[in-house]
Amino acid sequence: MRTPKAAETPHRALLWCGANPGIPAFASPKPTMTILPIKKYPEPILRKKSEEVKEVTPEIKKLIEEMIETMLKNNGIGLAAPQVGVSKRIIVAATQKDPLVFINPKILRKSKETELGEEGCLSFPGLYLKIKRPKFVEVGALDINGKKIRFETKELLSKSPVNERYPTGVILSRIIQHETDHLDGILIIDRISFWQRWKIRKTSKFTQVGPVSN
Ligand SMILES: [Zn+2]
Repeated sequence: MRTPKAAETPHRALLWCGANPGIPAFASPKPTMTILPIKKYPEPILRKKSEEVKEVTPEIKKLIEEMIETMLKNNGIGLAAPQVGVSKRIIVAATQKDPLVFINPKILRKSKETELGEEGCLSFPGLYLKIKRPKFVEVGALDINGKKIRFETKELLSKSPVNERYPTGVILSRIIQHETDHLDGILIIDRISFWQRWKIRKTSKFTQVGPVSN
């Protein structure tokens, strides 16, 4: 596993499923928490469409807590349940305040404006790709108490220190899109060009990245 080049380029680290060493408020996980093993590409679960959560049971809440701890322990800023081997529609995202939880997230609206940004993924250690995505999104989901929420990333910009820290200001939007993709079995290697994929096969350990998969 290649570690991120954080020391060389500290502000490069807009890495949602990847390490983000520059954010001090990411506390160390509590010692009693279970840290779940992360599924790495090409494990088949990463390609499966995840199932809706019918009810937010105590088991689901426990899974969410463990996902958050696992994300923080791995210096991630986002994580989807399939990445810890659970094919359910749950994602978590880190901010400098409380982590955000989205159960059965659905992207309701996307801004026309797009932005190219670098993404990493805990399921692809060491791989960082430039991916174009809508700059802002609106998401519908359930919160950890099973309550319906609507969430617009644009509104959160001024409130989220994650975004204040990085001038691009679209990290949270990108995290949500990246993690929601995971729930449909879509990975960062599906969001790049044929030629970028070819380069990955030739130059990284991910030699199984196919020519076209979306
Ligand atoms: Zn990922």
